Amino acid sequence: MIDVKGITKSFGKLQVLKGIDLHINKGEVVSIVGPSGAGKTTLLQIIGTLDKPDSGTVVIDGVDVGKLSTNKLADFRNEHIGFVFQFHQLLPEFTALENVMIPAFINGKGRREAKQRAMELLDFMGLADRAGHKPNELSGGEKQRVAVARALVNHPAVILADEPSGSLDSKNKAELHQLFFDLRDKFGQTFVIVTHDEHLASITDRTIHMVDGQLDNENTME
Ligand code: ADP
Repeated sequence: MIDVKGITKSFGKLQVLKGIDLHINKGEVVSIVGPSGAGKTTLLQIIGTLDKPDSGTVVIDGVDVGKLSTNKLADFRNEHIGFVFQFHQLLPEFTALENVMIPAFINGKGRREAKQRAMELLDFMGLADRAGHKPNELSGGEKQRVAVARALVNHPAVILADEPSGSLDSKNKAELHQLFFDLRDKFGQTFVIVTHDEHLASITDRTIHMVDGQLDNENTME
């Protein structure tokens, strides 16, 4: 599903990624761990086509994303990749349901189809009775689950999450982590999750350790 080869990236004189090779299978839930500054977020941004590498290739679902024009790349990202960040980034003036529907509208879906898909996801997450609430009427855990529903609304093959449970308490953390596996089992998505959370890393299918811009394969557990 994701094939990364020979990725390097520098910011000025600082080489942040020093030749990353990584293969992730469809339906895998993979965590990326490592010290701050190791390059985890930069790698995730490059896999997510939000940033470009200096060299190397990223192939997602058989498409070499480096070969896509800027316009095509935006469409590809919309259709194939969902993002979840540490802070939910929901739009405060819209309800939970509307927040989940927005990426479907951007992707050209009609109102009825967008609403049906958004409700299906909110329902799956136990949030059907929160659909009409605005973000400030939801708990932290609920907001983050709405953000996950939003990431999933266009059926992306890949979900990329950067510290998704970093702002949650332990109960909500556990619920969110379980949700990733439930979603993978129901919809077959591939998850790549950057995390400092040792428990989450311990339950993912594979943990990738990054140190100083490289994968630490010695410590990478299958
Ligand atoms: P991690 O996610 O493992 O903490 P990051 O990928 O966020 O690591 O950052 C790796 C290094 O790259 C850090 O030293 C960070 O300061 C630097 N860095 C990240 N993004 C930029 C940027 N846009 N411009 C300059 N330096 C950056």
